[in-house]
Amino acid sequence: MLQSIENYMNKLTKTSDGTYPLINPHTREKITEIPECTNEQMEAAIAKSEQAFQQMKVLSSAERSDILFKTSQLIEDKKEDFANTITLESGKPITFSQGEVDRTIQTLKFAAIEARKLEGESIRMDAAPNGAGRDAYTIFQPIGVVGAITPFNFPLNLVIHKVGPALAVGNTIIVKPAEKTPLSSILLANVLQEAGLPENAYQVITGDGPRLGKVLIDHPAVKKITFTGSPQVGKLIKSQAGLKKVTLELGSNSALYIDKSVESKIEEIANKAVVGAFSYNGQVCISTQRIYVHETVSKSFIEHFKIATEALKYGDPNDPSTDMSGLIDEKTQKRILEWIDEAVQDGATLITGGEKEENGVKPTILANVSTHSKVSCQEVFGPVVIINTVKNGEEALEAMNDSEFGLNAGVFTYDLPQGFHFAHELEVGQVLVNDLPTLRFDHMPYGGLKSSGYGYEGVKYAMREMVHRKFISMNYT
Ligand code: NAD
Repeated sequence: MLQSIENYMNKLTKTSDGTYPLINPHTREKITEIPECTNEQMEAAIAKSEQAFQQMKVLSSAERSDILFKTSQLIEDKKEDFANTITLESGKPITFSQGEVDRTIQTLKFAAIEARKLEGESIRMDAAPNGAGRDAYTIFQPIGVVGAITPFNFPLNLVIHKVGPALAVGNTIIVKPAEKTPLSSILLANVLQEAGLPENAYQVITGDGPRLGKVLIDHPAVKKITFTGSPQVGKLIKSQAGLKKVTLELGSNSALYIDKSVESKIEEIANKAVVGAFSYNGQVCISTQRIYVHETVSKSFIEHFKIATEALKYGDPNDPSTDMSGLIDEKTQKRILEWIDEAVQDGATLITGGEKEENGVKPTILANVSTHSKVSCQEVFGPVVIINTVKNGEEALEAMNDSEFGLNAGVFTYDLPQGFHFAHELEVGQVLVNDLPTLRFDHMPYGGLKSSGYGYEGVKYAMREMVHRKFISMNYT
């Protein structure tokens, strides 16, 4: 365990209600003990955050930008520490963890740039009857303390997606990381401090989600809750938050359509789609879960997809050649296997996989899956993909939209009007034409429809959800 993580946790443990064991998902062995922070510790953190806000307020946008940029450089210098920490706590294969660190650096750089650019607008007052004689404009002001509640699957970059925008606009932030992956967010604390962030402008409080989350949600000094996690918890938070600002980035069962027009590229697309379906064992909110293929290319697509899937290597996540590893916990492994069995009982064809592999599940392909089976209509969040054959694009579009979720969707087509048609008609936040649904760049607007979310992230867009837009009118008559 890195010394800076130990030091931070030791401070928390002094007043915590004991500790809980942190388990390595791949080996299921204990890594360390994590402080089970009390409600009083969370309240004390909120009070310190309010004080730190006074220091943040005196920093210029240029100074905040410099801190964020310096943080990105420091993470770059300690890239290996960060990647190893992500792999240790999440079981993520190391090449993906390195990718997450690279993205984190980018997210911070975007935040550093946007910090200098957050500008209001001038309002033409004489457009309204009797409005003449005034100059008016809007400014963005920081709101104060932000409470961030984050999931296990991207323990660094999804924390930065909240921390970067919050600090860029001049807020302070308290992170309640996932119980299963708190280490990366703790490692970040040291780096932000070294980059010159005022003390306590960033804090991490570890422990039970429902209990500590409720303290953050109920506390009047916390002006905003930014949550990434499951739709069930997201809906609960929204119902508890009252008039408090909330952003919810939730789950999905992302769909992809492959049209007959891309026949010449079918092998290449199949190989790409395997990465979209099984990266980090499918424990990704925009994992490619449902694939609809035109009947003309279906047989060939499934053949290539199966070959690439069966070539994936299960193993030690620290080994750069590993593709698949242990799932986050035993309960998840058991649930996924049950869902696969249910789909087969509902009439699906098991093409490959369908069984456990040590602490993981073999990458699984199911074809002809009923819309009622959980692997189709719920979020699997595991290494399972369904491939259904369709007669035409309209049938695919209907099936893709027949979902409680609406985060990302992808379409491979060389039929231009069809690409636009899907782009307009898909009921999701983001449409990727000629890309997988498993695609996110950190500066793009990103948010879900239906049960997939409320509000937007993507640095610039998240910043606008963490400020007051104040209107000012100067009457010069
Ligand atoms: P989760 O909802 O179980 O937990 C997320 C966080 O919420 C954790 O920190 C947890 O401690 C906390 N929490 C749990 N119950 C709470 C409560 N009652 N009140 C307040 N906080 C509470 O999610 P998870 O298993 O860690 O992550 C997987 C989920 O996250 C999936 O559904 C996935 O799709 C989603 N996700 C979404 C995005 C996105 O950007 N849309 C990104 C990553 C993950």
